[in-house]
Amino acid sequence: MAQAVLRIDLSALQANWRALDAQSEGSVQTAATVKANGYGLGAGHVAHALAHAGARRFFVAIAEEGLAVRAAIGPDLPIHVYGGHMEGDARILRDANLIPMLNSVEQLTRHLESLPDHPFGIQLDSGMNRLGMEPAEWASLAEIVLAQGPDLIMSHLACADDPDHPMNAQQLHSFRQMTDGLDVPRSLAATGGALMGPEFHFDLTRPGIGLYGGAPFTAAQPVVHLQIPVIQVRDVAQGESVGYGNTFIAPHDMRVATIAAGYADGIHRALSNRVTLWAGDVPCPLLGRVSMDLLTIDVTALPDDPETLDLLGPHQGVDDIADILDTIGYEILTGLGQRYARVYS
Ligand SMILES: *Cc1c(COP(=O)(O)O)cnc(C)c1O
Repeated sequence: MAQAVLRIDLSALQANWRALDAQSEGSVQTAATVKANGYGLGAGHVAHALAHAGARRFFVAIAEEGLAVRAAIGPDLPIHVYGGHMEGDARILRDANLIPMLNSVEQLTRHLESLPDHPFGIQLDSGMNRLGMEPAEWASLAEIVLAQGPDLIMSHLACADDPDHPMNAQQLHSFRQMTDGLDVPRSLAATGGALMGPEFHFDLTRPGIGLYGGAPFTAAQPVVHLQIPVIQVRDVAQGESVGYGNTFIAPHDMRVATIAAGYADGIHRALSNRVTLWAGDVPCPLLGRVSMDLLTIDVTALPDDPETLDLLGPHQGVDDIADILDTIGYEILTGLGQRYARVYS
């Protein structure tokens, strides 16, 4: 079989949820963000495992994503939609029993007209200028909204990956100004905010990336392991080239393995000549360009030809790959390809 295997350690995922839950006091609920297909790992499997670990509330980005989560966790646990209530969403929101986080007066009007007795929450903009009602808009709508009994009021931090950033305190202040004294549960923190301490926790935290083993939750257990099968191994003589564009010329005689994954699987072509795979504890550098379906790897250091090589595993996590590419672990996770066999344990 030439299909690479993406192993997803659901017990590590559950341990990460418990560890984040332990950051806050018992009265604070720890929810789970499972948008983007559970950060690329399979929303149904991830949500099911987290519900077993104790998560009692889930968040997705768009209504359609709620369907797989609803099917995985049964009819009762609440699922919220960050994107709110868009035109055409009413049927999914009702059928899958999803709670839209309404972001504007337009969404509020749509919701009250199309699903008058259906639960909803409110998203406020505390300074990020991405989603949510602005302070002035909220001031004029709060009375009407509160009379309808919103389920949750939330906002989102722009700089929570940097605990020392002054923006965190500014947003905390703005969120409190808009919500102090209201008799509605509140949420401000994702992973970064959950790690910043109790002032940021309010009634509910909604971590995503930390559950999946990514920064800023540096104490997280790794959740993903990517093992790629070797298709062919050859000797390459000093001075010969490897791969498209002859970007690698062998400085000495080498043993080179060709393995079955490439940029079509989310292994960015910008990693050409820049990343290392692993055979157990032995580092094996990528040689030359990343192809669509193949990588060529230096296995000269190994006593025997390997059957598989690891791109993600104990020696290298999503944030290590992200650092090479000047991006974040989130993008590596959500870019993991559809061609991998996803194996859950
Ligand atoms: C993605 C997202 C989260 C989860 O963020 P992490 O940094 O992955 O923990 C929480 N809230 C909102 C509004 C989001 O968009």
